[in-house]
Amino acid sequence: FRNSTDNLKRKVNFSNHSPRKPHSFARRQEIAQQRKSLPISAVEKRLIEEVRNNNILIIVGETGSGKTTQLPQFLFNAGFCRDGKVIGITQPRRVAAITVAKRVAEECGVELGQKVGYSIRFEDETSSSTRIKYMTDGLLLREALLDPYLSRYSVIIVDEAHERTVHTDVLLALLKKVQYERSKSVSGHVHDDNKKVGSGMTLGNESGGLGSSIIKQCQGRKYPPLKLIVMSASLDACVFSEYFGSAKALHIQGRQFPVDILYTLQAESDYIDAALITIFQIHLEEGPGDVLVFLTGQEEIESVERLVQERVQQLPEGSRKLLTVPIFSSLPSEQQMRVFSPTPAGFRKVILATNIAETSVTIPGIKYVVDPGFVKARSYDPLKGMESLIIVPTSKAQALQRSGRAGREGPGKCFRLYPESEFAKLEDSTKPEIKRCNLSNVILQLKALGIDDIIGFDFLEKPLRAAIVKSLEQLFLLGALTDECKLSDPVGHQMARLPLDPIYSKSLILASQFNCLEEMLITVSMLSVESIFYAPREKLEEARIAMKCFASSDGDHLTLINVYRASEEFLETRKLGLSKDKAEKIMGKWCKENFINYRSLRHARGIYSQIRGHAEQMGLRLSSCGEDKLQFRRCLASSFFLNAALKQPEGTYRALASGQVVQIHPSSVLFQPKPECIIFNELVQTNNKYIRNITKIDYLWLTELAPHYYIMQN
Ligand code: ADP
Ligand code: MG
Repeated sequence: FRNSTDNLKRKVNFSNHSPRKPHSFARRQEIAQQRKSLPISAVEKRLIEEVRNNNILIIVGETGSGKTTQLPQFLFNAGFCRDGKVIGITQPRRVAAITVAKRVAEECGVELGQKVGYSIRFEDETSSSTRIKYMTDGLLLREALLDPYLSRYSVIIVDEAHERTVHTDVLLALLKKVQYERSKSVSGHVHDDNKKVGSGMTLGNESGGLGSSIIKQCQGRKYPPLKLIVMSASLDACVFSEYFGSAKALHIQGRQFPVDILYTLQAESDYIDAALITIFQIHLEEGPGDVLVFLTGQEEIESVERLVQERVQQLPEGSRKLLTVPIFSSLPSEQQMRVFSPTPAGFRKVILATNIAETSVTIPGIKYVVDPGFVKARSYDPLKGMESLIIVPTSKAQALQRSGRAGREGPGKCFRLYPESEFAKLEDSTKPEIKRCNLSNVILQLKALGIDDIIGFDFLEKPLRAAIVKSLEQLFLLGALTDECKLSDPVGHQMARLPLDPIYSKSLILASQFNCLEEMLITVSMLSVESIFYAPREKLEEARIAMKCFASSDGDHLTLINVYRASEEFLETRKLGLSKDKAEKIMGKWCKENFINYRSLRHARGIYSQIRGHAEQMGLRLSSCGEDKLQFRRCLASSFFLNAALKQPEGTYRALASGQVVQIHPSSVLFQPKPECIIFNELVQTNNKYIRNITKIDYLWLTELAPHYYIMQN
């Protein structure tokens, strides 16, 4: 639905998929050839042998060597799926799980969702015949709630472990226990290998190990041993090896061509602008080859995409053969595969990616990398209990990974958009996420697995004690924990069942009591995606006027509901007799006219139907407050009371729980005039501390609806 791409599409017929028939003989041969040439293919036999001989294996290999796509197939062919068992591969990122599963399904010549499938939050493409299952690390953690022994799996591969997401870290600890317990269930005694690993943290023992409550159901049953493989792109395998009692580590030799690293002469004040100039510099001055640009998120990617497309039009006719392809995690899955389509002859492809393209997905054809040197990361202040997203410089390890992407198929170039002297100042590696995030979600899940001693839990790297205490306190205040720090009944258990942040889960549970679950489901879905509105620089005023049509004077949450409902209504009136494709198209047009981000809205609609299903299953009462917006706002106050803020005389706000001084983000409908008391959804830090997604409340509601907090605090 963007003009300029539409033009390009018409000219070159740049389709979403490879134009060759997927299962044609030629295509199969091509794939077989590609597979054979991957570095990992040379060591297939050896790998299988090592997996047979070791219950835990660490595999380190250069990005692109074939670990993620090939190893599961090797294991399948070697018989690891006998008796209907499944090989599970976890990824920190949804995009990787989806694109890799699609690729492997194609390599196997099967339909996605049959032998090969994927499962991520809000999307499941698996069936009872799935044997190779890609999923996010978070999803496997959730599965453990229902199947504590992960009994369907014969092998679990924790991929991209170097990313050290909080879910990967917790998953490793959990798998260590599951493995120990499964080996015990077979032999009745602990295998020597595992003794060291398992000591002092048995699963299902009476002293409150993993699943002391849930596991009881499973006792007495026998489970075949679980093979565990930890894969990582970084050379530092020691931390994993040590954690698993000196587990064996294997290195797969990759191929890497030299990459020229270029730095800017001076610091660049606007890295977006610098990236744009660099893209065109490469396009006009360098030889053939695709460009990979690392940006920090969807908003940035979409704005660069528009700017590139505009500037392309200003180039002389002969130089316009430049295509942009975005890739970020919430991109609709059918659009994600576009990065893998071959570049049409004579064209240059510019891939605009988040750090997904660092190691998780390997895109063929890249010769140039543009690295502004930034990444969006979570950050947590355990004293204030506030988590925020901030844009920070990458680590040296990340910068190296990024530049490496240019040298996979031949010599390449990497343009770092900062001076060389800055490189030396970067941190060596990124701090594990568990040390810089709110732990409420993870603690809730561990509690649901029966693990009550969080501070004593065998983490790969311990989170800050203060962060654990703060998160426990938050869960307690949300009513998820009892005075004894156990999961409360029913609220805590219900919250653990919902695949959402604890505050969102609580808001749904409360909404069923406040008679506004319909509204809250929409709100949570809309808040789960990035940027519903978009305002291109050159059309700011038009975008502002368009947004006014949806604006609610009560705040952003109701504004988001208005957008959602308006889109539903619009579709209702046109849907009759329209094919799905047509309906999508007119929806896209409607979004464009209203300056709504179509991709985000579509994603939100998908999330809505998923969480609505969860809410129904849990027996929550689905009702709407209709015109009674007061009910909805009171419900928000009662769930988000930890994020309440009061206006200060000078127009800033003081967040009541943390005491921080914050400002309303200019994109909020409540930016002007400013209400006295508000609740907010998130804190974003740039030069200022901005709060986003805000609703006006009455401060008296706080003591009325959250007396356990606001009276206590006076
Ligand atoms: P690793 O996990 O070691 O980084 P992968 O198994 O992800 O490596 O990738 C192996 C090869 O498969 C790479 O050359 C990559 O370009 C290719 N590949 C992966 N996914 C796709 C896809 N969806 N389409 C085309 N090629 C792909
Ligand atoms: Mg991989």
